[in-house]
Amino acid sequence: MDKEHFKMLAGNPKFITGIYNYCDRWCERCPFTSRCMNFAIASEQFPDQEGCDINNEAFWHKLSETFRVTLELLKEAAEEKGIDLDALSTEKDAEQEKLNEEIAGNHECCRMAKAYADMVDNWFNSVQAVSAQEQDDLDFKAHVEIPNVGPFRETDACEDAVEVVRWYQHQIYVKLRRALRGVLEEKLEPLDEFAKDSDGSAKVALIAMDRSISAWGEIRTWFLPYESEILDILMHLELLRRKVEKVFPDARAFIRPGFDKVDLNS
Ligand code: SF4
Repeated sequence: MDKEHFKMLAGNPKFITGIYNYCDRWCERCPFTSRCMNFAIASEQFPDQEGCDINNEAFWHKLSETFRVTLELLKEAAEEKGIDLDALSTEKDAEQEKLNEEIAGNHECCRMAKAYADMVDNWFNSVQAVSAQEQDDLDFKAHVEIPNVGPFRETDACEDAVEVVRWYQHQIYVKLRRALRGVLEEKLEPLDEFAKDSDGSAKVALIAMDRSISAWGEIRTWFLPYESEILDILMHLELLRRKVEKVFPDARAFIRPGFDKVDLNS
């Protein structure tokens, strides 16, 4: 893809500007693929399954090509706006960024999100261990197929719920870390706009938690012998969700381009 083609795509009004900034990157399940420039670029670059294989050399080659074009565009845009990109990153900035990263990572929300991701792994590992030894004895409502877990029969609802949990398992942490880092950066350089990137990232994390809670609710009905462990996970997630809502009181009101409607009455 060359620079001009990239610009042509960027100018296409069918795409919603910045929609990909506050999505969950689950393109397979996204209702806005036809309005997302990121998706269009990815589809052009990686039209087949083979091209999406992260182990495929062609994938990385194409990705570095996109990186090159993006950098060219960035330089051009910076020149037009009179911004000296080289002057932006000083040693002091780098130190501050490192410090912000550390502070964000140590925040209670991040620690809880990390603990949640571990709880999820532990739960799946324990189900896998038990299922290998005692599958026949367990009083499952149904035998289900859990990707990478056990030799059960396929059941769509449960499989979907497991997919949801797995999709968001680490994303919650990643988005919260970005949101918390954003708060620190916004304190150093206050923005004029009302909408803050930190709130946008926190909202994505909150939605991931909402959906994970629903998914665990579904999984619980299939795995009654594991109810107590599932309730522990749910409790942890709910506490984290409440904590995040306190730390980011405006996050739920953040309007994600494309996904949320602007309330004209407010
Ligand atoms: S907006 Fe939808 S299609 Fe675009 S990157 Fe996000 S999930 Fe994928």
